Amino acid sequence: MDRAADSGGSVPIAADATQARARAVVAAVTDPEIPVLTLDDLGVLRDVRLDAGTVVVTVTPTYTGCPATGVIAQDIRAALADAGWPDARVDIALTPPWSTDWMSDAGRRKLRDYGIAPPGPAADGGGTSGNGTSGGAASVHPVHLVRRGPTAATAATGQPECPRCSSPRVERLAEHGSTACKALYRCLTCREPFDYFKPY
Ligand SMILES: [Zn+2]
Repeated sequence: MDRAADSGGSVPIAADATQARARAVVAAVTDPEIPVLTLDDLGVLRDVRLDAGTVVVTVTPTYTGCPATGVIAQDIRAALADAGWPDARVDIALTPPWSTDWMSDAGRRKLRDYGIAPPGPAADGGGTSGNGTSGGAASVHPVHLVRRGPTAATAATGQPECPRCSSPRVERLAEHGSTACKALYRCLTCREPFDYFKPY
């Protein structure tokens, strides 16, 4: 009993620190398709907790059917194994469904720097004037009323701007870019094609 108490460290603070360390490891895992984006940037990380010493991670997949989801779970387990948790578990939470609105502002900047136009607002498919609603909203919980599916308004009002020269004069070349998650556009000003990360 004494030896268990010595090494067991079941003090809540120690557990919190361990949990925070595990969360940091998972948060830094990058998207297999867009390696500049971490899971934190994508907003797919729902929960990291300790269950009787086992790290349990809950993530919400991005686009349904995106092949990246399986890879992300593998990458999470590999990162945790490297950090000393070889038996971590990854749970998938499908509801509420992920939305591009969950992507962090830092993530949007990194996307643009990477040459991909970040997604416009996905919520309320109608009057998306984009007046800074994503800025101060720290809690992601009230997002459960996000409209799913392709937004017709995107083509009319939500055209991306060129990630290279910021020109709003762009044309869509294809509904699907390098993956189904992105549309292929071309800038009419600098003539460069680019991917648009579609709002979802
Ligand atoms: Zn351009």
